[in-house]
Amino acid sequence: MKFEHTDYHIHTNWSADISKDGPVFEDYIKIAEANEINICFLEHYELYYIEQDKTNPFYDSKIDDYLEEIDELKETYNFILSGLEVEYYRDREIELMEFMDDYGKELDFIGGTIHEWIYRYPITSREKLLELLEKIPMKQVIDDYFEISEMMIKSKIFKNVCHIDTIYRYINDNDIKVLEDCNTSEDRTLDLGRLCIKNKIHIEYNLSGLRFPIKRPFPSKEIVRQLKSERAKFFVGSDSHSVKYFQEQIHKVKKAYQFLGSNK
Ligand SMILES: [Zn+2]
Ligand SMILES: [Zn+2]
Repeated sequence: MKFEHTDYHIHTNWSADISKDGPVFEDYIKIAEANEINICFLEHYELYYIEQDKTNPFYDSKIDDYLEEIDELKETYNFILSGLEVEYYRDREIELMEFMDDYGKELDFIGGTIHEWIYRYPITSREKLLELLEKIPMKQVIDDYFEISEMMIKSKIFKNVCHIDTIYRYINDNDIKVLEDCNTSEDRTLDLGRLCIKNKIHIEYNLSGLRFPIKRPFPSKEIVRQLKSERAKFFVGSDSHSVKYFQEQIHKVKKAYQFLGSNK
């Protein structure tokens, strides 16, 4: 790659949570080039929605178009990578493995991720999470998150995992208050990290939490520091959904790599 650092987590309008007239590859490429950083496009790839929803950008095998577009751009730009943020489903491991067999080599980078396990209730949407919490006790939502995350890591389907404690995006003391019976001990996140180390899986240092009331990355700097001392391998992602946001994050991404490379 051309530059020293890479932002591994960029969303364009190939992601279903970005509108059709949202940012395209070239919009980010211009900014990345000017600021000397490599970028990896990491679009949401969710089997369930790809099958169910005709408006999903990857509906009807469009993944081949996605790859073709990026491969064409790669002929001009040597600082871009093709990637996907692939949703993990505990009851669809075989299909996910098949997908990795088919496309794992076609893409530069694939990150496993968990946003929801009860369809249409992503815990990364504040509104949907609140609806979910009306049906299921908070304790169970948190416990389920960690249990399924553990399953994802143990499945070894993915060599990289994204934002391992994103369950706290909205559930934290600055936002939706944690109920007393919930176990939000840092050890739970540490255990996931240690499981990644054991299975040789790289962990994302996802900076997006800084834009939410939790105001910290996923996982926190303290947890990253601890896991680092236990030889965990990290990659940094801004989780940008807009070019403006990406631009603002570039110096933080570079600083994050300095932190990861330091002994502190
Ligand atoms: Zn995500
Ligand atoms: Zn993302």
